[in-house]
Amino acid sequence: MKEKLLELKNQALAELDQVTTPDQLKDLRVKYLGKKGPMTEVLRGMGALAAEERPIIGQIVNEVKSELEEAINAKTEIIEAGALKQKLETEKVDITLPGRKQTAGHLHPVTLTLREVKKIFMRMGFEVMEGPEIENDYYNFEALNLPKDHPARDMQDTFYITEEFLLRTQTSPIQARTMQSREPNSPIRMIAPGTVYRNDYDATHSPMFHQVEGLVLGENISLADLKGTLETFCKEMFGNTVEIRLRPSYFPFTEPSAEIDISCVICGGKGCRVCKQSGWLEILGSGMVHPNVLKMSGYDPEKINGYAFGMGIERIAMLKYGIDDLRLFFENDLRFIRQFK
Ligand SMILES: [Zn+2]
Repeated sequence: MKEKLLELKNQALAELDQVTTPDQLKDLRVKYLGKKGPMTEVLRGMGALAAEERPIIGQIVNEVKSELEEAINAKTEIIEAGALKQKLETEKVDITLPGRKQTAGHLHPVTLTLREVKKIFMRMGFEVMEGPEIENDYYNFEALNLPKDHPARDMQDTFYITEEFLLRTQTSPIQARTMQSREPNSPIRMIAPGTVYRNDYDATHSPMFHQVEGLVLGENISLADLKGTLETFCKEMFGNTVEIRLRPSYFPFTEPSAEIDISCVICGGKGCRVCKQSGWLEILGSGMVHPNVLKMSGYDPEKINGYAFGMGIERIAMLKYGIDDLRLFFENDLRFIRQFK
């Protein structure tokens, strides 16, 4: 049996000498060292050997195996080195070819607009606050002077999750949350950007859209402060030639309330399709914070007052980029998205 093993070894080494490719090497390894190879067969036949012979033959089998293993590994290195050398010699690389262009992505037009709005207000000293998108009824409505039976709740189509929880319909709840997190009557100058949800879908409404709310509280703040700040914002956003006007309006959380229009950025105020021939575009809602809103969050309306405003980011983006259908923002059509590099 010992002779048979040595014979096998020599046969394997002789075959190994002839091998020139990695595939042949693999076949050889399987042939001699694989589970169905002669070594395994010898080990299986050991049961027939005398007890004292078994360890001797076992040792020889192991020696032959490791010797073959080493020889095959050595040959593998030689063949691989040869293959690399051959590759280097035959393969020609034209280093003068221009490189492949990497295409980078870019920000979504809504993100671009949101960032610009934030930047303008941050330059004016506003801090940016955030809040949860799943909001409770109290912060979304009640703390904003909209008790359960208030008719203005009908103005909003709300996605309720339970009777108590809902997807926020506005980012205004962050105003109450911020007031309640501060020392009562401490000044606030904040904007609250974020995603909001309403049950609405057409060319100018999407069930998910973005809002920026603003709140400024302090002593002796007037409508003139509101107008000055928002006029500055509109001019920075749409250009210095833009004019604004305040139109009386109604919101439950402000009193008095005003819609702010800008002179049409398309026709310059002459009248066109976009401004419906009026020369003006509605851009945001605003007003002096209602005393009830202050009281509910622990502020004293006798000492502190201020103003609040809110705008839709998609609306701003549509006017800024001349987009006539809001749904385009969320359809992920690359032909549309790629225009905002
Ligand atoms: Zn116009």
